[in-house]
Amino acid sequence: MRGRDILKLLSFLPFLVYAYFSFTGQLLGQLNPLYLIAAPIVAGLVLLLSRNLWLFVAFLAATNAAVQLTGGSGSQLFFFYFLILFLEGLRTGPWRYLFAVGAIVILEVGSALFHLKAIPFPVGPLAAFVGFAALAYLFLRREEKRTRMLARSLDRERAKYRSIDPLTGPRSERLASLKEETYSVDVDALYEGFVGFAFENLNIHTAALFLINEEKLYLAAVRSRSETVNEDVSFDLGEGLIGYLAREQRPSLINDLGADVQKLGYYHGQVLVHALATAPVKSDEINYGILVADANRVLTPADQEFLVRLASLLARDIEIAAAYEERHREALRFSGLYELAGNLLTGLSEEELIDRSVNLMRELFVPDAVGFVRLQEKEGVKLLRYDGTNGFDSGFRFDPERSLAAMTAKHKGFLKQRDMTRPGLYRLGPGERPAVNKTFLGIGFEEDKKTHGVLWIEKSEADAYSEREGKILGFIATLLSAAFLRVRYQEELARLARMDGLTGLLNHRSFQEELEKCIRKSGTVAVFIIDIDHFKRINDTYGHPVGDMVLSKIAEVIKDKGTAARYGGEEFGLIIPNVSSQEMIGKGEEVLAAIRRAMVRIKEGTIQVTASIGGAIYPKDARTREDLVRAADVALYTAKTGGRNRLVLTGK
Ligand code: GH3
Ligand code: MG
Ligand code: MG
Repeated sequence: MRGRDILKLLSFLPFLVYAYFSFTGQLLGQLNPLYLIAAPIVAGLVLLLSRNLWLFVAFLAATNAAVQLTGGSGSQLFFFYFLILFLEGLRTGPWRYLFAVGAIVILEVGSALFHLKAIPFPVGPLAAFVGFAALAYLFLRREEKRTRMLARSLDRERAKYRSIDPLTGPRSERLASLKEETYSVDVDALYEGFVGFAFENLNIHTAALFLINEEKLYLAAVRSRSETVNEDVSFDLGEGLIGYLAREQRPSLINDLGADVQKLGYYHGQVLVHALATAPVKSDEINYGILVADANRVLTPADQEFLVRLASLLARDIEIAAAYEERHREALRFSGLYELAGNLLTGLSEEELIDRSVNLMRELFVPDAVGFVRLQEKEGVKLLRYDGTNGFDSGFRFDPERSLAAMTAKHKGFLKQRDMTRPGLYRLGPGERPAVNKTFLGIGFEEDKKTHGVLWIEKSEADAYSEREGKILGFIATLLSAAFLRVRYQEELARLARMDGLTGLLNHRSFQEELEKCIRKSGTVAVFIIDIDHFKRINDTYGHPVGDMVLSKIAEVIKDKGTAARYGGEEFGLIIPNVSSQEMIGKGEEVLAAIRRAMVRIKEGTIQVTASIGGAIYPKDARTREDLVRAADVALYTAKTGGRNRLVLTGK
């Protein structure tokens, strides 16, 4: 029993004291016929108007006092008290009835006993009060139990759509929880739960929840005893009885619907209901809708109060769900950006990075389409990716001046377009019509302070995205720019690692790798080791820089004769796959002749060199890479000792 209930009880004390005094000295057996008529009429009126037990008891006290003051006897009104209480009992159920009867009986018996001098003052009123309080206590305890049950089953309902909060707890768990489907807030289950709860606890015909969406009411959940509920029903806010009550945002209780039953609007056919209770589902700021209960019994103020309490709990849960959704989305954003940022450092290719960011944008913004263009001097505004229903082919070229993609590239920061009706503006693709109620949000991404590409999202909704989304999109663009730069540096590094710095040919290590690859996949592989003759003399005569020039020249000469590499200082390697031993001789002689012909011009004149070449062929001369190179080296040695400027093949 709460403080408020005790106060209510105490408010009765003055009345009891008054009743005590009013009964003393009264004569039994006198009855003014006026009260016979007046009392039930006034009682009925008060009941109809107040529907409130406390007022009802106060009314009894007042009539009693009137009887006393005009010389009648209160006890003679017993008959009417009981008549009225009986009617009230019919309306509200036995508990309230018993409570009210009990209160009156105790009051009257106490007074009568005192009147017969059986009980001295103040025992009479006190006894009456204690008895009354005991009854009230029983009544209220029952109510409280009901409330506790209500709270418990609501908690059970709530447990169904709550799970781990993604923003607290260890990060790994938090991220993992995002992936679980059960995480999302199931608002439909929430609506069903509340409606089912009202239905099961109120003994009614139909419980229904109507929610407001853009000035329209739609049926979000319903439970009914009849089959005739129209589940697709929707009204304008203010239209019909339910629409009107939803707009008014006040609880209502109607026990004589009569012909108004037709105005309920959510039944297909005839139903037998004549009572309606509704409660607004609203928070301090938002009117979410209306909770409706109809019945073919009398609905009491207690039923209505129950419904009102349920509706306000529902409003709070809807608010929590909305806040929860928002946090969920935030957490998703956070984890998506976190993952994308992580990808900057990993070995993902540009293609894979675009994949990831398109997926992320889809998840974060739920757009109708995601677009991705690359700007290149020669190729213009070229579409790399379009993930949407518009059906552009990748590679599509946009208008370099008037397309939104191109305009975004020229724009600093993000470009948001909420009105697509300006002719020529939304030149996305061939035959595209100007669109009303469409939002475009795009941003350029930069590399070396130059706009390199544009990414954007589209949605068929006016003003679908705010500045906040623009900022997040900008952040994605920044991450991508950094990632693309990383990809480019990585490619450059890989290229440099394979290359010889002076000649631009493959270096020694990549020569070995290439040879290994060739041996594994080709039928025959010819290898030449080329060593320039008397190269030391060139260095000695003209200096090292000129020697380097000669090396570069030789590299130029041999680079398209096969897979060419700088094998050592002034030694080159050449791999030629899929040749016969016969063809190999021709190839070697060709290289020899080309080197002989090559001329390096310097101040002092022109320099010409010769070279010695050793060759070997897989699989005839050797079965492994090492043996093949060794065989070619031995042949080279033979060429040198045999007088230089010649080709020697293994075994010849
Ligand atoms: P041979 O006909 O016997 O091959 O005589 P060679 O003088 O060419 O002898 P060898 O092949 O041993 O010569 C290697 C010389 O190549 C030593 C070195 O001075 C020179 N050399 C090696 N790498 C470079 C380089 O990167 N630049 C220059 N300018 N000279 C180099
Ligand atoms: Mg050498
Ligand atoms: Mg040499």
